Amino acid sequence: MEKTHRHGQPALTIALENHAAKSNGVQEMMNSRNSRFSPRISNWAGQFSCRPRCIHRASNRTEVQVALEKATAAGSRLRVLGAGRSPSDIAMSDQDLLIIDGMNKVIAINAASGRVLVEAGARLCDITEAVAPHGLAFPVLGSISEQSIAGAIATATHGTGIGVGCLSSLVEEIEMVTPDGEIMRLSAARDADIFNAVRCGLGTIGVITKLTLKLVPAFDLEVSEQESSLDTILSQLPERLKFDHYRFWYLPHADRAWEWRATRTQPSPGQHPPPRSLIAWLRNRLLGVHVYEAMLYLCSFVPALLPVINRYYCHTFLRIPRLSRNRSDRQFNFDCLFKQHVNEWAIPVERTAEALRGLRALIADRGFRVHLPIEVRFVKGDDIWLSPSYGRDSCYIGVIAYIPFGRKTTNHEAYFEAFEALMADLDGRPHWAKRFGPDATWLSQRYPRWADFQKIRRQLDPDARLTNSYTDRVLGPVTFDTSNGAERPCQSMSQ
Ligand SMILES: Cc1cc2nc3c(=O)[nH]c(=O)nc-3n(C[C@H](O)[C@H](O)[C@H](O)COP(=O)(O)OP(=O)(O)OC[C@H]3O[C@@H](n4cnc5c(N)ncnc54)[C@H](O)[C@@H]3O)c2cc1C
Repeated sequence: MEKTHRHGQPALTIALENHAAKSNGVQEMMNSRNSRFSPRISNWAGQFSCRPRCIHRASNRTEVQVALEKATAAGSRLRVLGAGRSPSDIAMSDQDLLIIDGMNKVIAINAASGRVLVEAGARLCDITEAVAPHGLAFPVLGSISEQSIAGAIATATHGTGIGVGCLSSLVEEIEMVTPDGEIMRLSAARDADIFNAVRCGLGTIGVITKLTLKLVPAFDLEVSEQESSLDTILSQLPERLKFDHYRFWYLPHADRAWEWRATRTQPSPGQHPPPRSLIAWLRNRLLGVHVYEAMLYLCSFVPALLPVINRYYCHTFLRIPRLSRNRSDRQFNFDCLFKQHVNEWAIPVERTAEALRGLRALIADRGFRVHLPIEVRFVKGDDIWLSPSYGRDSCYIGVIAYIPFGRKTTNHEAYFEAFEALMADLDGRPHWAKRFGPDATWLSQRYPRWADFQKIRRQLDPDARLTNSYTDRVLGPVTFDTSNGAERPCQSMSQ
């Protein structure tokens, strides 16, 4: 069954395999302890799923405390699910799962200071709509806004603009329930270390219930998009990065690039982009989505066709320059077409040219047949311990492999692996929300404040309640204090 979010995309896919369950209602079956009726939960793209032993729903912090209490009493691990948008197993749990989509309110808006108090499960799109009449906006957004705010910050979700940090850097205060059920209020001034760990905490430090964000005066974006060559962009990158927001997509096999340059302007509420003609709409929808997806489906059997398909797509849709002006969120977000595997890494911005040239050569030399585009974005460095942009301005490079009509193949795996090796050589750090190979031992070398993060984790979750197989892999076990010598893994809880 699919619950549809009011902005069109399914909020969360809850696959009920038992037909009786459908007619009896999801809620009832979700609370069932009988595994025969336990619903299967999938992430949005459907690559990862789990059948939790117990699903809890919380619409306030007392219900969060109760869920944690019950999980503890059952000796069970618990993960929190936001909007399920992560293309990885980060939020999956075969034990207890806490769904927080009932905690979705925008509680208070202070237009003068830009401070906005929201519940953890509020979607970015709903926050945007709520603050717009007060003349406020997010300074940056990623490609979509369907994520919950807590989920977005837990993985340092980012947009683009070398002068703007990731979404975690907008958080000023956090209210959180610890695994023990204690309520904590955190900020840079109060429990600064815990605050720093939670700002990008992968859901392992506590369950966030409320956040105060610092937003900015609303703005429009004037966007110019145009075709270019990779070499032109790379040779003029410092100039390009002077735009308020800049990104480009490298288009493999066509060996072209598509640039997106955005300048902030005063908001003009009355102005809307001219309506598209029916012919243009049909062309974009029919050819750009449905026919394209059918072509990709065909390519999943015959990957050798991909270079031709990529060139067709570029020739048809990415040739004529475009100018547009609209409200910032509508310009930041775009149609991501269909479900996809994604792998994205952050490297020091100085290594952008080396990385892109390396990737282009890799695809050619290894004969990979790959989907377009390769997305390239820029994010300001920050001081958030586990943020991939910690301590350095970063270039994020993302590769994708579509899942046309839900057809999953392993065609992309060698390409993703080679991409990861290249990013690793360039001092890269993977995006936490996306599926990546390296484990905790490797990752610990990439984050200067790794040990500080682990210390907070040990302090607040010594029994490893907020864990799953993803955190076991990428963060390792919660360990006891190592100050007296050997590191002792804590008792691992039953899987
Ligand atoms: C089409 C698409 C486009 C995307 N575009 C971008 C992009 O432009 N930039 C980018 O950086 N990322 C992007 N992403 C990735 C996305 O932003 C992240 O996966 C984000 O974490 C998803 O938020 P969510 O609410 O769905 O969280 P989930 O995927 O449900 O969970 C993510 C993490 O948050 C934790 N969590 C959730 N709620 C809480 C809570 N209350 N307390 C503690 N922990 C919590 C979970 O336990 C988990 O660890 C995109 C994903 C998709 C599918």
